[in-house]
Amino acid sequence: MALLLVVEDDPEINSLMALTLRVEDYDVIQARDGEQALQMVQDRAPDLILLDVMMPRMSGYDVARTLQDKPSTAHIPIIFVTAKSEMEDRVLGLEMAVDYVCKPFAAPELLARVRAALRMRKLQDELRVSNEQLSHLATTDALTGLYNRRHFDAQLENEMRRAQRFGNSLAVVVFDLDRFKTVNDTWGHAQGDAVLQAFADVLRGQSRRIDTVARLGGEEFGAILPATEESGACAFAEKVRVTTEEMAVPRRTREGASESPIRITTSGRRCCDCGAFRCRTHARAVRPGRRAGRRSPVIQAKTSGRNRVVAQTLLETQVAGQTPAPHPQHPTPKVKDARFDGSQHDS
Ligand SMILES: [Mg+2]
Repeated sequence: MALLLVVEDDPEINSLMALTLRVEDYDVIQARDGEQALQMVQDRAPDLILLDVMMPRMSGYDVARTLQDKPSTAHIPIIFVTAKSEMEDRVLGLEMAVDYVCKPFAAPELLARVRAALRMRKLQDELRVSNEQLSHLATTDALTGLYNRRHFDAQLENEMRRAQRFGNSLAVVVFDLDRFKTVNDTWGHAQGDAVLQAFADVLRGQSRRIDTVARLGGEEFGAILPATEESGACAFAEKVRVTTEEMAVPRRTREGASESPIRITTSGRRCCDCGAFRCRTHARAVRPGRRAGRRSPVIQAKTSGRNRVVAQTLLETQVAGQTPAPHPQHPTPKVKDARFDGSQHDS
């Protein structure tokens, strides 16, 4: 049953309202002034508040404004119950409350208004939950639970603006699983999905709370690393690469029995190429998938043998489509880790 808070400084009216509501099986808590009411809202989170207007120290209007200024309490509906019955009072009250009842009140009318307010509250709660679910679906990759490309792009714009404003560095790392098609072709798509989920877990485990990790599509993943220099981005990418190399994805037969695990890094089969970018100035410069040449570090990692991290510094001049000036420390896209012979060039 709904929890109702009655706020009324007159003890007799307070008790009468509480009694009227309890007869209808509502749970009722009672406050005698505004401050006590705010504390009870904090402690008990009522579903509806019946609020007197004229009270000592803190008026009902002040209580309503205080609640509506806080995101955690702004959604709690309020019915003013007051002796102030002038039209201006009711208009002002309805600016802050869902309903307005004049004293002396008739019990059936008060109860009818309470039911109506609770119905509205229920609909608003359902709408809020639906919106949250839709928002979650719109920003989440269903298979891995990571953010999706749409959210990654939006977040990258935000982080680039923030980095520009505060003069911070920002790193973006793009990961592409090596020869992932072979996993699907050999063991089937369900096992391929398990590999993608396992890699998503690796990314989650290696990232900080301020990072954004996403599945960009297929077997391509991205990580946005705020306030991170190239060395930090490469260290992150290297940790992901090594962890993935050591990863063994359990394989299941139809009977559910476990067979030998899928090790996508065994016998020279390298699994994770990492392109690490650092960009000082412009989001679009590092947005994967939007520009010709965008994958060059990933492709470079692939063509130089896979299972490696390649770093590239992008400068502002590249944003404008001009030839990039050499970065004083990192003049060209460069292979960070060339331990393999590069003899296999399929992805
Ligand atoms: Mg009063």
